[in-house]
Amino acid sequence: MTTSLPDASGATLIVDLAAIRENYRALRRRLGGTACGAVLKADAYGLGADRVAPVLAAEGCRHFFVAHLEEGIALRPHVPEAAEVFVLHGLMPGCEDIASAHRLTPVLNSLEQVEAWTALARRLGRALPAALQLDTGMSRMGLSPAELDRIADEPQRLASLGLRLVMSHLACAERQDHPANNTQRLRFDVARRRLPSAPASLANSSGIFLGPDFHYDMARPGASLYGLAPVSGAANPLRPVVRLQARIVQLRGIAAGDGVGYGLTWRATGPTRIATAAVGYADGFPRSTGMAHLGDVALPVAGTVSMDSITLDASALPEGALRPGAVVDLIGPHRSVDAVAADAGTIGYEILTRLGRRFRREYRDGQPSPSPALVLEGVPS
Ligand SMILES: *Cc1c(COP(=O)(O)O)cnc(C)c1O
Repeated sequence: MTTSLPDASGATLIVDLAAIRENYRALRRRLGGTACGAVLKADAYGLGADRVAPVLAAEGCRHFFVAHLEEGIALRPHVPEAAEVFVLHGLMPGCEDIASAHRLTPVLNSLEQVEAWTALARRLGRALPAALQLDTGMSRMGLSPAELDRIADEPQRLASLGLRLVMSHLACAERQDHPANNTQRLRFDVARRRLPSAPASLANSSGIFLGPDFHYDMARPGASLYGLAPVSGAANPLRPVVRLQARIVQLRGIAAGDGVGYGLTWRATGPTRIATAAVGYADGFPRSTGMAHLGDVALPVAGTVSMDSITLDASALPEGALRPGAVVDLIGPHRSVDAVAADAGTIGYEILTRLGRRFRREYRDGQPSPSPALVLEGVPS
């Protein structure tokens, strides 16, 4: 038995929806009575918000977060009627009507956004739902301390709004010993006491792992749902969600001294088998080093990654183990997204969100992923 990819595909991104479901359950167990929302910005970190949202909704998730208004509009049809879709960037000037028409809840990040949303609420003659974000130290988004003072002194500024959530965002949550975590938490507590009472939310994925003091009423995990490690330097308690399988386009034997790839940066030190696989940096795979696997056998990248292809040193495999059309893992059981990221000097978030739309996509829910090792069957070892 070999894997049954259609002939034309160069690579397949396999998304394990059952793993996302398990990760959501694991986070909810950790959160106890705290509600577990879900962040589906950037098309659910590149994995497909239209496929991920129904899985989470079936688990009872009713609070979804996206970054842009357009993402909220696209997500709306894929979540239950009663679910709330929060737009983290709030409102661009002039976008109030369209946000309201699609029943989106803006995360208001400035006094201007509060005023614009309030003006629409008055015009419509009804309270509009809103979240309020406070900047507690990251200096990225949310009301500044001065803006908080103005709202605290004039609480009627919020009178036309249905305040669904008061939230802030942690800058260093993946580092559990970082002093900024507690500083931000204490500032959040002080600020919240000056505002009308509303449910509170501070924790992203990593924040959940900082413990119950950080949980408040709702958590907003993204990365951990998609299998990325939430705590830097610790074992990852979550299930991996993606597998990236590339197909072999061509094989060749080269001799000692022969160079491989652009710049001929890699040279064979002896007889070497090179396998060229159909994934490159245009697919979002990092251009730095890397490694593929066939079953348990590691196939190091030889030379630099090209735009559409990658050259692998397949010398560790028996002759004939790979043929054109065979499949190797680039992300899989032997190599996590976080490991690929570490090699490339970046974070798993960047690798995941850059894996492009060029791959064939396969969504699995419970069925095991096909293992490329099966290709070896019939080959004497
Ligand atoms: C992206 C984001 C999250 C989710 O963060 P993860 O680290 O992916 O869990 C939560 N809150 C805000 C404000 C965000 O921008």
